[in-house]
Amino acid sequence: MSERRVRVRFAPSPTGPLHIGGVRTALYNYLFARQHGGDFVFRIEDTDSSRFVPGAEEYILEAFAWLGITFDEGVSFGGEHGPYRQSERREIYKEYVKQLLDSGKAYIAFDTPQELEAKRAETPNFQYDARTRLQMRNSLTLSPEEVEALIASGQQYVVRFLIEPHQEVHVHDLIRGEVVISTDVLDDKVLYKSADELPTYHLANIVDDHLMEISHVIRGEEWLPSAPLHVLLYEAFGWEETMPSFAHLPLLLKPEGNGKLSKRDGDRLGFPVFPLEWHDPKTGEVSSGYREKGYLPEAVINFLALLGWNPGNDQELMTLQEMVQLFDLSRCSKAGARFDYKKMIWFNHEYILQKDDSEIAAQFQPILKEHGIDEPLERVEQVVTLMKGRINFVYELWEQASYFFLPPTTFDEKSLKKWWKDDAPTYVAELCDFIEKSPVFEGAALEPLVMDWIASKEWGVGKVMNAFRVTLVGAAVGPHIFALTDFLGKEETLRRARHALEVLKDVKEG
Ligand code: GLU
Repeated sequence: MSERRVRVRFAPSPTGPLHIGGVRTALYNYLFARQHGGDFVFRIEDTDSSRFVPGAEEYILEAFAWLGITFDEGVSFGGEHGPYRQSERREIYKEYVKQLLDSGKAYIAFDTPQELEAKRAETPNFQYDARTRLQMRNSLTLSPEEVEALIASGQQYVVRFLIEPHQEVHVHDLIRGEVVISTDVLDDKVLYKSADELPTYHLANIVDDHLMEISHVIRGEEWLPSAPLHVLLYEAFGWEETMPSFAHLPLLLKPEGNGKLSKRDGDRLGFPVFPLEWHDPKTGEVSSGYREKGYLPEAVINFLALLGWNPGNDQELMTLQEMVQLFDLSRCSKAGARFDYKKMIWFNHEYILQKDDSEIAAQFQPILKEHGIDEPLERVEQVVTLMKGRINFVYELWEQASYFFLPPTTFDEKSLKKWWKDDAPTYVAELCDFIEKSPVFEGAALEPLVMDWIASKEWGVGKVMNAFRVTLVGAAVGPHIFALTDFLGKEETLRRARHALEVLKDVKEG
């Protein structure tokens, strides 16, 4: 038997911004598809118009473009199995609903919401199923003429799946193994609603997976309870042969590990749960996103890849290419994955280190512009080279390195207390004179001269150089001092130091 072509899909409902868990699901599908040289389909499941949110589809596409997750087919990508938006597939679903009705695998039900409510109130744990369906108003209890008359009179109805009681349903899950449940716990799910002429999620999902020749359904654990119903639907249509393999990914857990990750955890601990910033069109509420918070897409991808999967060794940093090679559904865990957002910050740091300084400089340059500083890229790059080891986010370069571009206007009290005492003003004044007269200024040549000179004066190197540093930076922080003076140049170095001497004239000795 020839191997089936691998075709997977990501099928979000456009009900709002894409949750980070959805991004992980898409990533695993992507890795699986690429590893097998298969296809990755982007389908929009928008049959529930009451939950439709404008802008959500565009948001999802923009998020994947940012993350570098690519699709081969689907909404906005085209392909031979379209349309890929379920709201554009009404006529297709109607055919399949009819097929189930004709074969007696489904039936028409007229019960109004009020009638269902009344039934629920009178029957504890009411479930629309083999035990109760004959007490209800449906095509099993009404005559064909009555059914026809009701439909002709414009009565709204739903189509329900007829589930046979006392059967075992087997779901073969590539992560969880075989999951067996009894049909007795399932209800006769609504598959279609006449009111909007649209199927529900379950029917549309199965019909589309079949027609789009999906070979593997990789999705979040929250869909595991639907899987038995989906298996039964495949069987009802006679599509057992091409039923996809299932893989239900582990839940994402709170950073503390207790319970499901929610948006509130992000708000509480200060991390986004969405890839991009989201502006809710109804409430105007703004939710933060990884992109806007300064995360690199590579870092987000690498972090997510390891939430529920590992390559079987300790390797943590991986390129997308490596992930494609190493990914393995059978190495995905069943147990929930703790969302350790601090680890994501670590990944961001690591990816900043890996990136070319020029690339980081190109991201830092606009931040400098916002602060009114217009520096050529190569100057910005020099600062990046000196400082990027200390940051987790590019924007932190401003907090950590603004003094490269701006002379200090204030002086850190603690640093003054520690270093602006004894003869600090004398050290700095004399050092300025020494530097001014020195035939060389470049750090590599200047440093040994300064060291010899300090030794000849019998001063402490620490005392002199830290006092000097405070005048250039405004605090006892920063890179190697001669790297800083190289960047500033002779004129600016002396100007800063002498200006500080003026400003600090009245500071009491510590
Ligand atoms: N529309 C569902 C969602 O929003 C798809 C679930 C599935 O992958 O079957 O996630």
